[in-house]
Amino acid sequence: MNFKDYDIGELKGVGPAMREKLARLGLESWQDVLFHLPHRYEDRTRVVRIGDLVPGESGLVLGTVEHCEITFGKRRALVCRISDGSGFLDLRFFYFSKAQKDKLARGRQILCYGDISSGRSYHSMIHPEVKYVSAHQPVPVDDRLTPIYPVTEGVKQFTLRKLTDQVLAKLKRGQLKELLPESIKSQHQMADLADALFFVHRPPPGVDLNQMYSGQHPAKQRLALEELFAYNLSMLKLRSKIVREPAQPLEPSVDLTRQLLETLPFELTGAQQKVIGEIQEDLKEPHPMLRLVQGDVGSGKTLVAAMAALQAIEQGYQVALMAPTEILAEQHWNNFSGWFEKLNIQCGFLVSKLKAAEKRQMLEQIASGDAQMVIGTHALFQDGVNFHNLVLVIVDEQHRFGVHQRMALKEKSKSTGFAPHQLIMTATPIPRTLAMTAYADLDTSIIDELPPGRKPVQTVVLPDSRREQVVQRVADVCRTQGVQAYWVCTLIEESEELQCQAAEESARQLQEAIPDIRVGLVHGKMKPFDKQAVMDDFKAGNIDLLVATTVIEVGVDVPNASLMVIENPERLGLAQLHQLRGRVGRGHLESHCVLLYHPPLSQNGQTRLETMRATNDGFKIAEKDLEIRGPGEVLGTRQTGLIQFKIADVIRDRMLLPDISKAAKVLYKEDPVMSDELIERWLGRREVYGQV
Ligand code: ADP
Ligand code: MG
Repeated sequence: MNFKDYDIGELKGVGPAMREKLARLGLESWQDVLFHLPHRYEDRTRVVRIGDLVPGESGLVLGTVEHCEITFGKRRALVCRISDGSGFLDLRFFYFSKAQKDKLARGRQILCYGDISSGRSYHSMIHPEVKYVSAHQPVPVDDRLTPIYPVTEGVKQFTLRKLTDQVLAKLKRGQLKELLPESIKSQHQMADLADALFFVHRPPPGVDLNQMYSGQHPAKQRLALEELFAYNLSMLKLRSKIVREPAQPLEPSVDLTRQLLETLPFELTGAQQKVIGEIQEDLKEPHPMLRLVQGDVGSGKTLVAAMAALQAIEQGYQVALMAPTEILAEQHWNNFSGWFEKLNIQCGFLVSKLKAAEKRQMLEQIASGDAQMVIGTHALFQDGVNFHNLVLVIVDEQHRFGVHQRMALKEKSKSTGFAPHQLIMTATPIPRTLAMTAYADLDTSIIDELPPGRKPVQTVVLPDSRREQVVQRVADVCRTQGVQAYWVCTLIEESEELQCQAAEESARQLQEAIPDIRVGLVHGKMKPFDKQAVMDDFKAGNIDLLVATTVIEVGVDVPNASLMVIENPERLGLAQLHQLRGRVGRGHLESHCVLLYHPPLSQNGQTRLETMRATNDGFKIAEKDLEIRGPGEVLGTRQTGLIQFKIADVIRDRMLLPDISKAAKVLYKEDPVMSDELIERWLGRREVYGQV
């Protein structure tokens, strides 16, 4: 039987009204009920001695009523004291009837369950569940832990227990289809799905609850494995849908790439060449490329993207590059214009803050195809932006994009009758484990080499009580001929306004403290033109110390800058700190970074700064970031709805991922029907990102 084909309305106790309420919990089929899992348990399987009760926990107690009275303290209450020879326990009821009081007569034996709190004289339970037990009868304890399910208004625990009881009864008779390939099951010595589900819904007495809650229990691991497997399959499915569509095949560029390389003052690194080669092969195909390019900060991803763009432009097509923020878009625009102008390629720039007239003109250039390389933000993919013949979309991501963006991408190449090739670059490295899950639909290229001459930056972590010394050091550095420094002011309470003020103040103070050097200031509130003027001055060496907000996180490239001081680095995330620090260490000089924090540091803050001090490796930093913040924060999936697992946890279960990734590829190819069933079972009607 297939649990998903049976409507929840066919279970006892579910009328039309209840059916609607259950639907609000996402429960519509028997399968949904089966996969609606408890988030905690209560233990009524064993009696605890009163003397062993621990406040803050709950427990089942068997005792004899000592006395029972109504008290008139702050609130009128029925207080019943019971004992079991090991101690006394007070039961308190604020709502009670006369009958209740009469039943709790001295000498009566009762079984009660509730949360234990510490009282003035004895521990107590407020409004416990009470059962009257006769002395001759065996104590009626449960034989399974009591599951507590996520519920919604109008749906009680009791209801869900009844429903799961009914569905589990069917399960026991071995009617749930096993979908996971035997190979991966035996590889990890996993139980059958039915056994695991039964265990999680109705754990036996004595189960290690900590292990259950942390997800380390084999039954939970079995479910996590299957869930991750299903998720991986759904990504592969998304991928295969996209890559089946026709795309414009593109011959490798010959002239333009040669011309660009001739203008560059350096050679491509081996890693860049390798990745460019991979992209070149993809673009030749009559199906969309889906490729992720990863590389550490400064590894030269932008140039790789530019080379990819040339392959389309040389054949007379348009390319779009979407950046996550306006600042980043501007930065890319500067880079691309710098490179492409010399090749007579026209670059367009589209962000939402453009003036109406500018925007209109830009839209015309995009529609006519005059703008061959179009750079912008999300604004690129809004209605009213019509491309002439877009064939390649480059996305510079901070976070994983959701379904809507992907849909929009496809729309924009409609005029060509083809789906666009997609090149995804990540602003910072993504931990391997996350990439394997969240980016399972993409081929991956890694630029695993930095341009020659980059030197690892020495990082020190200092409290701001040492500020004067640090200023002295800045002075020494800046007084050295041909050496420059950054002083970075971080965000205060998410207010750009305040951040800019802080930067202005710091600039003033530093100029006062070191009058003989030239201090410049750049922040986000400045007009683009003024900003550019300051940046140009810094680049030209007319400014010794550049005081800046985190706007310089992107796009500053000054090889003579060999010192960076970051004020209040504890306010920033690891990825951002790593990006910032990547601005130094680009020349032949030994470079340093001072993280000038404001004590006291939180545990997290301490870990972050220590990580920065210990390594320059962006991939290691990303792994640490993942550990500290979790996948939702690292990928920004809170917003996109990606990876909201029922049971799995990408960090905890990361050991499983490589095998899952391998096995999923095999199953997807060999048994698409089974794959679909697995996806349906775990992701069901939940709108997964990327259902194209
Ligand atoms: P990221 O990977 O962080 O985006 P960028 O693409 O911004 O890195 O490149 C960082 C800097 O390195 C840029 O100034 C770029 O021009 C330069 N660069 C790129 N490739 C090379 C190379 N092969 N040799 C030397 N410098 C390079
Ligand atoms: Mg970059």
